[in-house]
Amino acid sequence: MRQSNLYIPTLREVPSDAEAISHQLLVRAGFIRQSVSGVYSFLPLGRKVLRKVETIIREEMDRIGSQEVLMPALQPSELWEESGRWETYGPELMRLNDRHDRKFALGATHEELITSLLRDEVKSYKRLPMVLYQIQAKFRDEKRPRFGLLRGREFIMKDAYSFDVGPDGLDRNYEAIYNAYMNVFNRCGLNFRAVIADSGAMGGKDTHEFMVLADIGEDTIAYSDQSEFAANIEMAPVKETYTKDTSPVKERIKVDTGNKRTISEVAEYLDVEPQKCIKSLLWMVDEKPVLVLSRGDHEINDIKIKNVLEAEVVELATEVRTKEIIGCEVGYIGPVGVPEEVKVIADHAVASITNGVCGANEPGKHYQHVNPDADFNVDLYEDLRFIKEGDPSPDGKGKIVFAKGIEVGHVFKLGTRYSESMNASILDENGKAKPITMGSYGIGVSRILAAVVEQMHDEDGMIWPKSLSPFDVHLICVNPKNESQFQLGEDLYAKLKNDRLDILYDDRKERAGVKFTDADLIGISVQVIVGKRAEEGVVEVKNRQTGEKVEKHISELERYISKL
Ligand code: ATP
Ligand code: MG
Repeated sequence: MRQSNLYIPTLREVPSDAEAISHQLLVRAGFIRQSVSGVYSFLPLGRKVLRKVETIIREEMDRIGSQEVLMPALQPSELWEESGRWETYGPELMRLNDRHDRKFALGATHEELITSLLRDEVKSYKRLPMVLYQIQAKFRDEKRPRFGLLRGREFIMKDAYSFDVGPDGLDRNYEAIYNAYMNVFNRCGLNFRAVIADSGAMGGKDTHEFMVLADIGEDTIAYSDQSEFAANIEMAPVKETYTKDTSPVKERIKVDTGNKRTISEVAEYLDVEPQKCIKSLLWMVDEKPVLVLSRGDHEINDIKIKNVLEAEVVELATEVRTKEIIGCEVGYIGPVGVPEEVKVIADHAVASITNGVCGANEPGKHYQHVNPDADFNVDLYEDLRFIKEGDPSPDGKGKIVFAKGIEVGHVFKLGTRYSESMNASILDENGKAKPITMGSYGIGVSRILAAVVEQMHDEDGMIWPKSLSPFDVHLICVNPKNESQFQLGEDLYAKLKNDRLDILYDDRKERAGVKFTDADLIGISVQVIVGKRAEEGVVEVKNRQTGEKVEKHISELERYISKL
């Protein structure tokens, strides 16, 4: 392709609203343009990279026997009502009415649609297993669309769905797709980790997220410095390594703490360590009050509360609610003498506290020398806290470190969540009807572009890995007005094209500096520069990644390029 004909509207200035480096570079280099917040057009270079990602995904999905389909974005509300998600999905689901006032959603995901597609046709176990996938625009009215392609409101997703007779089949498909995803992200040149995740609103159990390590990432990953262990911080189990303090038990006393409410204020005032304090917070768990206790230096993880109590909705009680239920304001509440109807659960660490400190359920008062089980009752001890950096890794190998991650893929075991609510069943070998066992698997195709740029760029621009580079070679004729440069440029363009290389040929009548700046910004992995020594048949080859430049005679050029 001749650059003089290609639509690459590069910008010198960084777009003012672009915080993420990938957003800045993709816009500056003319790969994408914003239409409205969170909605983008892919210009020719962006489209080419997107297509390369799609091709890798198709190859890996097809290799495991998955079949490509294309479902509509426009979906009738009835399907979402059947699954119950018309109610529960919330404002992220883009909804609209047609001219007859019939309600629709723009697909945020396709569990409902695909279940409806199969339930009328697939009636026997003989048709299973099956995995279907598609690559298509998804719509989510995100609360905070930002960072360009990282969080859009319309974005490209590859979604796949597996259908099996039972859990064993699901396990096999899950593993096959998990491995296909590993291949996809490796082939995209990403530095990533597969982490244990929370199944969230999708319903279901086993789930992993594929996280690209990058500071802009919105998720925190907890991983071991010595093993393969990695989990989303929301899900990382804490290994119990607490030793009970065996000092002699003292008698409980009530002390004045005035206006001191937070753990650090109270600990400092009473001159005890935060580890000796019992933090008490009232949570509403499916609208029932639960007092959750943790050690003063730990943070409670609401997802763990939700999972432990098998609840739907877990939220911190408001100050008003807390006062109504406990009879005392936040800051002074504690587990001693709480009303009967309040369930008390505690993180394991609390059990090891001896002669601790907690709120006395009286304004301005705390208890000192409180002892679990002697002074208050705990209905359940569980792992309820967030893991911390330096904690032992849950697999017993090494210590936990944190990193920020961008989620580029997600695999879920759905089980029968959708097949039951939407009546998709088959007859098994014994002629018995049973719901189809399903899995759901997503890749953020457009998000991958941004994730790659976040990891691979320098101060001059983007650096595409060969597998995703919009062109194989950027051929640059430094000065087309010079006859031998012009001739050699044209010859090489024709020749390399014939060798099935995809060439971007900078034949523009621009200054050399402009061409070099643009080439580095666009980031095609190999640059071939036709300049001063054109007459001798010598060109310069630049490896965009290393910045290394070598002179090569055109007779050695192809071999050298293919080696790169
Ligand atoms: P996130 O936590 O980032 O919102 P999610 O858990 O909602 O992601 P899934 O429902 O699992 O995402 O969707 C599958 C994949 O689609 C994600 O792994 C991610 O790569 C991509 N994705 C999700 N939301 C967006 C978005 N708003 N913009 C771009 N890609 C997205
Ligand atoms: Mg989301």
